Amino acid sequence: MTRSISILGATGSVGEQTLDLIRRNREDWRVEALTANGRVSELASLAREFDAKVAVVADEARLPELREALSGTQIEVAAGRDALCEAAARPVDLTLAAIVGCAGLAPTMAAIAQGRTVALANKEALVSAGDVLMRAVNESGATLLPTDSEHNAIFQCLAGNELANVARITLTASGGPFRTWTQEQLHAATPAQAVAHPNWDMGAKISVDSATMMNKGLEYIEAHHLFPVGLERLRIIVHPQSVIHSMVEYRDRSTLAQLGPSDMRVPIASCLAWPDRMDTPMAPLDLAAIGELSFFAPDETRFPATRLAREAIETGGAAPAVLNAANEVAVAAFLAGQIGFTRIPVMVEQALSRYSLPAPKCLDDVLSVDAEARANVQELLEHA
Ligand code: NDP
Repeated sequence: MTRSISILGATGSVGEQTLDLIRRNREDWRVEALTANGRVSELASLAREFDAKVAVVADEARLPELREALSGTQIEVAAGRDALCEAAARPVDLTLAAIVGCAGLAPTMAAIAQGRTVALANKEALVSAGDVLMRAVNESGATLLPTDSEHNAIFQCLAGNELANVARITLTASGGPFRTWTQEQLHAATPAQAVAHPNWDMGAKISVDSATMMNKGLEYIEAHHLFPVGLERLRIIVHPQSVIHSMVEYRDRSTLAQLGPSDMRVPIASCLAWPDRMDTPMAPLDLAAIGELSFFAPDETRFPATRLAREAIETGGAAPAVLNAANEVAVAAFLAGQIGFTRIPVMVEQALSRYSLPAPKCLDDVLSVDAEARANVQELLEHA
């Protein structure tokens, strides 16, 4: 049976890996909406290839270019934030939320409001809007499928079990490209070195997050919302081979782990086929060739980001949204060569210490906290 799908962030790393799986199973899918920020030619070429119903760019200035690139086709075109939300709200069987950053929050919420199935890769949306987003899921009756590899692993390990029986959830972390670097080396780390992840091929922002370990901090908060077992039952362990994607220990001390290649097409396939399974092009897991799996406690002196994330979610209120916004601005500044690598967590900590805003109650509250925190960190940057 053909199913319909919309992909928010179609031109990104997760979006393209999803379309790769759809390309291999073309007869199973009808593509409704594909969205991008500003990469018009990539979006237009995907929209043509997959015969999308609508293609949307967030950047309104690029609309004439998109219209031109899709002239002569039946594909509708649109631009701007409202158009993104309208596209996200179109009726489909599955929406993949794969925009990077808090920019993906409003379209993700628009998809959730329809009460359908949403595969969530856009972790920043859940970190910023935590309770607001989960409440919307409950109220609309939407099904949220975790796409992030760790949360997808936990989702699989939990299948059929009660959260009350969970003793501990362990998120594994590769440790990123700088896992063994000294503090001095970290001070001199360049954007090119930070985006060169040893195990995963990902977009620039999440690659830097992986290098600072903020990615694991964001995932800790994400796990807290998706699997509410209590913060004391969530922990992070460094596992450099990225073979075990996360684990769930039950109260009888039985631990279930999900293993697989470090390729996002595995968790994406699990969401596309859910509750069934589908083939992927990856080679079978060869544990004898891998030989050894190792584990370490995180070093929060060299990589303070996991501590900052834990403190933010323990503080609650607007703190996780501030953490996320500050991190997005600091990562962009690092990628633009404006600040050094080790300044990223310092700026996040400074932003967190300036705020004690009340908990956001709705989407607009989250977006105003996000905007205020961004402006604040921008100011810190200008006076650095
Ligand atoms: P990329 O940077 O590769 O792609 C981001 C996508 O979002 C692109 O389609 C981009 O469009 C679009 N986009 C960027 N900014 C905006 C904006 N302001 N408004 C609308 N659309 C925008 O990111 P990834 O694919 O790596 O990551 C996507 C999300 O998935 C992130 O939240 C990340 O944390 C999460 N994730 C990613 C994993 C990975 O392996 N990459 C693994 C697990 C989670 P354009 O191309 O036009 O710029």
